[in-house]
Amino acid sequence: MTRRSFLLPSALAVWLLFACLLVSPAQAAIDVTQSPGQLDLGPHVQLLEDAERELDIADLLARDETLPWWPSGQETINFSFSDSAWWLQVELSNTGEGQVRRLLELGMPLHDYLDAWVVDEAGEVVEAWQTGDRRAFDSRPVAHRTFVLPIPLPPGETRRLVLRLDTHDGLYDATPLYLMSDGSFLQKSQRELMAFSLYFGALLALMIFNLLLYLAIRERSLLHYVVYLGTFFVLMFTARGFAFQYWWPNWPTFNNQMLPLTIGLFAVTLSVFSISYLNLQQHAPRLSRALLALAGLCLAGSLPALLGHYALVFRVMIPAAILLSSLMLAVAVWRSWLGDRLAQIFLVAWCVLLVGVSLYFLRVAGVLPYNFFTEYAVQAGSGLEFLLLALGLAYKINLLKNEKLTAERATHELHRSHSKQLELEVAERTRELEAANRRLAAMARTDPLTGLLNRRQFHELVDEELQRRRRRGLPLLFAVMDIDAFKAYNDTYGHQAGDEVLVQVAGLLGAHFRRAGDRLFRLGGEEFGLLLEADTLGEGRNAIEAFRQALEDLAIPNEQAETGVVTASFGLVCCTDYQRVPDAQRLYREADEAMYEAKERSRNRVVTRTILEET
Ligand code: GH3
Ligand code: MG
Ligand code: MG
Repeated sequence: MTRRSFLLPSALAVWLLFACLLVSPAQAAIDVTQSPGQLDLGPHVQLLEDAERELDIADLLARDETLPWWPSGQETINFSFSDSAWWLQVELSNTGEGQVRRLLELGMPLHDYLDAWVVDEAGEVVEAWQTGDRRAFDSRPVAHRTFVLPIPLPPGETRRLVLRLDTHDGLYDATPLYLMSDGSFLQKSQRELMAFSLYFGALLALMIFNLLLYLAIRERSLLHYVVYLGTFFVLMFTARGFAFQYWWPNWPTFNNQMLPLTIGLFAVTLSVFSISYLNLQQHAPRLSRALLALAGLCLAGSLPALLGHYALVFRVMIPAAILLSSLMLAVAVWRSWLGDRLAQIFLVAWCVLLVGVSLYFLRVAGVLPYNFFTEYAVQAGSGLEFLLLALGLAYKINLLKNEKLTAERATHELHRSHSKQLELEVAERTRELEAANRRLAAMARTDPLTGLLNRRQFHELVDEELQRRRRRGLPLLFAVMDIDAFKAYNDTYGHQAGDEVLVQVAGLLGAHFRRAGDRLFRLGGEEFGLLLEADTLGEGRNAIEAFRQALEDLAIPNEQAETGVVTASFGLVCCTDYQRVPDAQRLYREADEAMYEAKERSRNRVVTRTILEET
């Protein structure tokens, strides 16, 4: 099931893959005593294509001379897309004195089927193994994530090593072949394990840290990051052969299904993370739907793997993955171009990964040499990518914090201005209420038609003035005025016109009696009271007389009145005897009597009455 590694670690670099075949001359038996360390066996092996898959080891050994073996010359063995089975052979000789053991490693953990034989000089098979990624893990002679075969080499003898490689689904991946002593293998595997431990440890630490961070601050993109990273972790752990070795060694079929499945899940989690990290739902809702659709297609494309149909997986998943990656990059470039700092970090992270993946595939394609750096370029690239994305998330959280702070300030400001507004409104309402109260109080004191003080006020104010005058020993001057023949006026000109006359008379009163102490009352109907700011009877009489004349001079026609115009009769009282006149009630009666006297004496006149204290 080697095609899955072809998808790995990202389909991004699929277009970077191209075959690079070199041809070199055939090699003689390799003297292992001359190369005690690690030897790249790739260029030394001979290849045989078995297009019909009809050969077995017995046929092969029997027809040996007639078979079209050819020298590989390749650094790493790579058959790419091929439905054939492939045979490899190489001769190893031990020219030394003692028994030697060499380990052959096929550095590609996802090879489906690997059959191997060691044949002695007489053509007898002395060792045989049947293993591969599609066989249980314990079929391996050495428990290791890649395939390691121990080859015994007796002194002075040559051994022929024959390998048969086959796939479940017709795709081979680049496979480095190493011949190593036990010591070099130990050294190499320790170095690898250290590198992978650091890598997976870093991913795990990032994952746990960000999960805790999510639990603490509940920012959704942190959770998306953790799930995305977790999926990538499983994907890498599976692709590098660790999952099969440590997690499910007895489930080769499941192991093979896991890879396309995790790639599909990876596409989905990557899209979900990118959308939330870049806020695409807000900035480009249609684009984010397109990303999700493509990711969904990747995942759907991986499902036939559950039924063993890997060819279909390939046909759907690779184009979808290429489209998805391209769209993702385009979105990142676009958002970066607009100055989105988060997108810029995202873009850098992706470029770092892309460089790693490109280096890896350039190595797979034979353009770059197979070394530690190119082998682990994807690990370095993806590790850096996740680190940068974590940095981006930290930046995003900071942004969100600032946004929240700004919003809080705005709310606070709004609150403040609201309560300020409220205060102002309350003050305004209070003022209005006070004014209304004042108007109400004024209305309670005044007569609505004429605006003069009403009868109730007459009692209050006149009583007060009475007391004051008495204390000071001053006389009090008060007059009652009654309009003459007013009933007749109403009958002639109408009640409305009568009202207008009342208003006119009141206006004239106001204009005439302007001293600070003058008080004018409407006592009822067409009857008025005048409390005068005057100290002598003469002074008061003159004022009243002047008014009487002024009213007559107004010449408001009243055809039924004797004079033919509106006039009034006045009863003026000048009082110093406060024993006889103790209150407003009594004062009114005295003035009213004087006024009736005026009526009796043919109206339109002032009758005075003095009530003097007896001495
Ligand atoms: P006299 O000269 O004897 O005072 O005769 P008079 O008609 O003025 O007196 P009388 O008391 O017989 O009539 C008073 C009239 O005043 C009766 C009523 O029609 C009128 N009157 C009382 N209050 C009002 C008012 O508020 N508006 C109007 N238009 N007329 C009023
Ligand atoms: Mg009257
Ligand atoms: Mg009257």
